[in-house]
Amino acid sequence: LAAAHRLARGPVDITVVDRTNHHLFSPLLYQVATGILAAGEIAPSIRKTLRRHTNVRVTLAEATGIDLDAGHVQVCGVDGQAHRLGYDYLILASGAVDSYFGHDQWAAHSYPMKTLAQAVALRDRILSAYERAAEASDAHAQRDWTSFALVGAGPTGVELAGQLATMARQLHRQFHTINTEQARITLIDAGPHALAAFPATLRAHAHRSLTVMGVDLRLGAQTVDVDDTGVTVQTHHGATDRISARTVIWTAGEAASPLGRLLGEAAGATVDRTGRVAVNADCGLPGHPRAFAIGDVANHNDLPGLAEPAMQQGWYVARRIRAQVAGRPQPGPFRYRDLGTMATISPTDAVADAFGVTLSGLPAKIAWAGVHVGFLAGWGNRAGVLARWAGAVATHTHAEQVILSDRVEFGGRVRRQAVAAPGGVGDGARR
Ligand SMILES: Cc1cc2nc3c(=O)[nH]c(=O)nc-3n(C[C@H](O)[C@H](O)[C@H](O)COP(=O)(O)OP(=O)(O)OC[C@H]3O[C@@H](n4cnc5c(N)ncnc54)[C@H](O)[C@@H]3O)c2cc1C
Repeated sequence: LAAAHRLARGPVDITVVDRTNHHLFSPLLYQVATGILAAGEIAPSIRKTLRRHTNVRVTLAEATGIDLDAGHVQVCGVDGQAHRLGYDYLILASGAVDSYFGHDQWAAHSYPMKTLAQAVALRDRILSAYERAAEASDAHAQRDWTSFALVGAGPTGVELAGQLATMARQLHRQFHTINTEQARITLIDAGPHALAAFPATLRAHAHRSLTVMGVDLRLGAQTVDVDDTGVTVQTHHGATDRISARTVIWTAGEAASPLGRLLGEAAGATVDRTGRVAVNADCGLPGHPRAFAIGDVANHNDLPGLAEPAMQQGWYVARRIRAQVAGRPQPGPFRYRDLGTMATISPTDAVADAFGVTLSGLPAKIAWAGVHVGFLAGWGNRAGVLARWAGAVATHTHAEQVILSDRVEFGGRVRRQAVAAPGGVGDGARR
């Protein structure tokens, strides 16, 4: 979208292909999964976002192949038919998918949170688990249904664990047969720290805050098995431990969209361990100056898989293509401007590291809120999110407590099949 917005100002025709009809603002996904925000508030439609550009065509379709020599993308459209889309310039920005580190079978027993549908399915599961606990006949079953294990203590795991702890406190007033405040939230990671990419002081702050909130941190614990009743971990000393939880949330692994490998193989470019295609300094494919890969699907000097590099690359590639089309000199190589990173922990606590300055607690949370509302697409969405946050603070409740699934299937399999995207190369490893 960053590329399309910039490109659209030039004398070009643009086709934006996506298999979803919305632009997802991933940093607030955890708020959909825990019922603070409604799905649409963080996902404006792509058509609406690009409506002012009459030279942009939006196509709801799944890209399944790329022919670099012929200059076309193979897509499967909403009519179920295969089509070819010819291009003069190609920008691949198909993002990332879940990775289970070679244990794809764990996908059937855990809830990932990468897409909007997955976040809504997770919300259904969390709310259903409390309902199930409330109806359970013995304390043991109640305990299991109010136990949540999160695998992966990066920003997503930390944010979700903190919000689950907050939610457990807030649900206390709505459930009279169980004590939701005793919900057991376990955050598991193979590494020695939560928020490993942050400076040590911020890591320590996050660790303390989560512990005070009642989150059980299991660090240095490598997940070796996941099933419907919990997670088995192995410590560095080789001892195994079992963490019982009827809801396992997968926030650990990530791999590039399969289209990255496809493009890499077609161009003879290097594809790294996580499936990212290596690009030149100008984000172009070696030997194919009119094909670019940007964002999570590309490896540009090992930049992290974050929104900021993705957007900056989008703007850069648009500038480059416009210069080529206009016969102007090309801009120099892409340079990433690091704007820092942030993670939220609770409604009043966060950590932030930007331009050599570290913040924690309420000041970081205010900075976090400002940045995230600022980056959300559309003024309507920004106003809506601010109103929701004000409501959540004032009422101490989460507004979105609807269980959307028609069939409350507590084994979870029915719902997980329902949210899986159609088969094909665009599908992630987890499915
Ligand atoms: C839960 C979560 C929280 C995050 N929090 C942060 C954060 O706080 N800060 C931050 O900087 N980054 C964060 N990120 C990372 C950030 O979202 C990504 O780095 C960023 O979105 C990458 O942009 P992208 O354009 O490469 O891919 P994406 O934004 O993932 O977009 C890829 C698009 O391609 C489409 N697509 C994929 N395959 C196909 C196909 N075969 N055919 C058609 N369309 C296809 C998808 O539908 C999607 O719309 C978070 C990610 C997640 C999952």
